[in-house]
Parts: sequence; structure tokens; C-alpha cells
Amino acid sequence: MSRYRLQPTPAQEAALAGHCRHARYVWNLAVEQHSFWWPGRGGAPGFAAQCRRLTEARAACPWLADGSVIVQQQALKDFAQAMANFFGGTHKRPTWRKRDRNEGFRIVAVKAEDVRRLSRHVGEVRVPKVGWVRFRWSRPVPAGVKSYRITRDAAGRRHVAFAAIPRPIPAPGNGEVVGVDRGVVVSAALSTGELLTVAPLRQTEQKRLVRLERRLARAKPGSARRAKAKAALARLKARRKDRRKDWVEKTSTDLARRFDVIAVEDLKIAAMTRSARGTAEKPGRGVRQKAGLNRGILANGWGLLVTRLEDKAPGRVIRVDPAFTSQRCSACGFVDRRARESQARFRCRSCAHAGHAGHADVNAARNIAHAAGHAVAAREGPRVTGPVHREPHPALLIA
Ligand SMILES: [Zn+2]
Repeated sequence: MSRYRLQPTPAQEAALAGHCRHARYVWNLAVEQHSFWWPGRGGAPGFAAQCRRLTEARAACPWLADGSVIVQQQALKDFAQAMANFFGGTHKRPTWRKRDRNEGFRIVAVKAEDVRRLSRHVGEVRVPKVGWVRFRWSRPVPAGVKSYRITRDAAGRRHVAFAAIPRPIPAPGNGEVVGVDRGVVVSAALSTGELLTVAPLRQTEQKRLVRLERRLARAKPGSARRAKAKAALARLKARRKDRRKDWVEKTSTDLARRFDVIAVEDLKIAAMTRSARGTAEKPGRGVRQKAGLNRGILANGWGLLVTRLEDKAPGRVIRVDPAFTSQRCSACGFVDRRARESQARFRCRSCAHAGHAGHADVNAARNIAHAAGHAVAAREGPRVTGPVHREPHPALLIA
């Protein structure tokens, strides 16, 4: 994702503001439609039903009908994707978009001729119903742009961010399988023993964030002090988000280059999000822990990492059943719920060599790699060597 400062004329600015308003309105319409629905209540309103609702809304509101149907339909598609991510357990449930806070719209199916360079520092992008809008060519626009998003920040500046699907990275051909476990404490653990962490904010920045949040809470509504704190906070949060994304790009490229097969946990929707939530009458078991776990996944950009891995290493990413990966010893295969001594520490009480101990997330990553190895072997025919690990029968599990 690369972001450029947009330089619209006043007339274009008005038209872009209209697109943002329409996108927000349509998004909120979809949120409202979904707010009457919850898991277990039958089918959720699909994209088709929402499109019908959009057609009705356009017929009823002339101001909406004047806008771009491309922009409005895309807002619906983005919402559908956001719901899919929510059910996938990788994102929070989509919520209301607020004026001045979530201002933006997305355009997809962008063609190469929709973006051009005018001079050394000036480029242009074609926006439906607005025409060519200039932007500052501050760095090269990536090849193969597929979509872009136009936003307005708290300071009133407009940006365009181009998204290109990264080109696949060729497999190294070394036959190596790596398991990746999403950690809550560390961001990702590899079966090689490496622990990868995102440091989205330095310590001083983290302190500043807390201070700004406190100042914002105390400031009088509508005051200049409040506006200033709000803008500073928005900048800091944007920096944190950028660094997290940067980490995902670097990590996914590194993994795609070094390993032939990359194994990740298959985060089962139902198992995670739904059981954490439960129902109003019957709250899910372990709600507290799971809520914490889900937060960890979100914070570490796990969903984005898996998406990027699949972009860069197509066909080389294997999703593995996560059952027991955190309770089984990767050295001897013994499953013991009590082996995980803490969030970070794993100690096997059955291993011949007096207890295999190590980082719990690395142990899980090794189990994920083992499972992927079996999946590859099953695909390619019988394995000749190595022990056969099977999921132990439930009756054999030590409680
Ligand atoms: Zn063991």
C-alpha cells in the first residue's frame, strides 16, 4: 500500500466529499441491516439482498441517486468482505462509520491507464464522476495497481492509497517446511525457533499515546486543545498502523523466500469467534480468555499476514487444524494440557530426555510444521520414513 497526497481542485474536493458521504451512508445502511441479525438466527442478509436495498434507497433519495453507483456498490462489497473477515475470526465486527472520522471510499478494477504521471512530482488518477485528480508523485506508483482508496484525515488532507497484489515469489526449492504460530505475546513464532515481533511504537511513543488519550478525555468538547490532541493522536495511530503493515510485508516476503511450504493454523471461525461470544442466555465457555486471544490476533495483524503469504507464495501455504498444537510436545508427541506452564513456557513431563522445555509458541509452530508435513505427504503418496503421529484418541488424553 503506498499513499500519496491528493491535490483536488475545490470543485473536485466537493465531489470527493460527496463520494465519501455516499459510501458512509451505504455502509451504515448495511450495518443497520445486520444489527437485526446475530449468529444462530438463520441466514444473514447477503450481498444481493443489500444491493436490492441500495436500489430502493437510490430510488427514494435523489441525492444518493446523483452519486456514483460504482462508489456505493463498492461500499457494500467492502462491508460484505468486512463481515467475512469478522466470521473468519481475523477482524472485529464492522461498525458504524462516523462523519469526519471514517471518511473514504474505494475504487476497484483500476486499469493501468487510470493512473498517469504528468511531470516529475505530479501524477493523476481517474475517479468516477470526478475525472482526473492530481496527486503528489512522491515515490513510484507500484506496477499492477488493482484498486485505490481515497481518504480524508482529521486535518482535512486527502490521500490516495494504491493497492497492488504483490507478485508471487518463487519457491527456494529446498523442500523446507516452516510452521508459523500466531502468538499473543510475540507476534509470530517459527518452527525454526525464531520469534518475530512487531514493535509498532517505541516506548516514548507509547507513553505519548497514553498521555494524549488522557488529555483528549479531559479536554472540553469543541476546544482547540481537544482538536490538537485529537490530530496528534490520529497521527500516532497512523504511524503504528503503517509500521504493523510494514512488518507484515517484510515478514511475508522473508518467509516466501526461505521456505517451500509455509504452514499456518486454520483459525476456525465457529470455534473461535462464535464460541467466545455464545448467546445472551448461554454465554460461551472461557469467554474472557478467548476475547483476549481474539484481541491478540487483531493486534498482531495475523489476518493480513496470512493474506500476504497467500499472495506471495500461492499454493505453498497450508492451513493446519489447530487442535492440540499448543498442548502437544513437538519432540515426543505427548499431549498434556498442563504442559503449557505459562503463556510463554512449555514443559513436557513425558519426554525421555527429562522434559522437553521451550518457548510455548515455538513448540506450537513445530507442531504446525509437522502437521503440514503430513498433509504434503498425504498429497504426494505414502511416506517412507519417520514416525507416524496421529491425533490421540480423546479417551487417551490426560485431563
Ligand atoms: Zn515430550
